[in-house]
Amino acid sequence: MGGLTLYLVFMIPPLLLSLWAAWRVKATYAQASQVLASSGFTGADTARMILEANNISNVRVETTPGHLSDHYDPRAKVLRLSPDVYNGRSVAALGIAAHEVGHAIQDANGYAPLVIRNGIVPLANVGSTAGLILIMVGLLGASALGSLGGWILIGGIALFSLVVAFQLINLPVEFDASARAKRLLANTQLVAPGAQAQAMNRVLNAAALTYVAATVGTIMTLLYYIILASQQRE
Ligand SMILES: [Zn+2]
Repeated sequence: MGGLTLYLVFMIPPLLLSLWAAWRVKATYAQASQVLASSGFTGADTARMILEANNISNVRVETTPGHLSDHYDPRAKVLRLSPDVYNGRSVAALGIAAHEVGHAIQDANGYAPLVIRNGIVPLANVGSTAGLILIMVGLLGASALGSLGGWILIGGIALFSLVVAFQLINLPVEFDASARAKRLLANTQLVAPGAQAQAMNRVLNAAALTYVAATVGTIMTLLYYIILASQQRE
């Protein structure tokens, strides 16, 4: 396989998958934003109620600028919700708020994949920067560096594989947070079964798909570099 063909085969399908996932999030979020939760609470109310019901008193709920910028900060113990989710009363707002509470509950319970993920974060950050730099040096400097270039390339690939490790362990963390959100909102009747629950589930499932797409993309990138490295050794 030629260099360009190889590149396209490994990069284009993951790109299309992540574009499709991003489009699904946008479309399902827009739809579920039109469906008001019959309970009448906002995302912030919902988050605070679920935290309290789970005896978590050390996590604050705040608003943060941006669209779909919602996240849980395990270091600061703060749940930051975008204005649309914080103030929103739609099933989209409640679903996302409950998903982030799911992360706070994971944190409070010492959920193993989350603990491992948080431990890998600094390594993955090194892998995504230094790893890629070493890969570029190893590939571009192959002729000048000789066998040293090959070893630099292998070192870069090893570092970059930490990014894959991070993304793989992040998948159960994200799936579990969404599963918790669905259960919590169904059990508390904050989101009614039927059309409301379905619209909310579609948003959470689409969001999960974006994580899968990102992981597939990184794995394909890693494989691409591994193939380039093996071709260089021939
Ligand atoms: Zn999440």
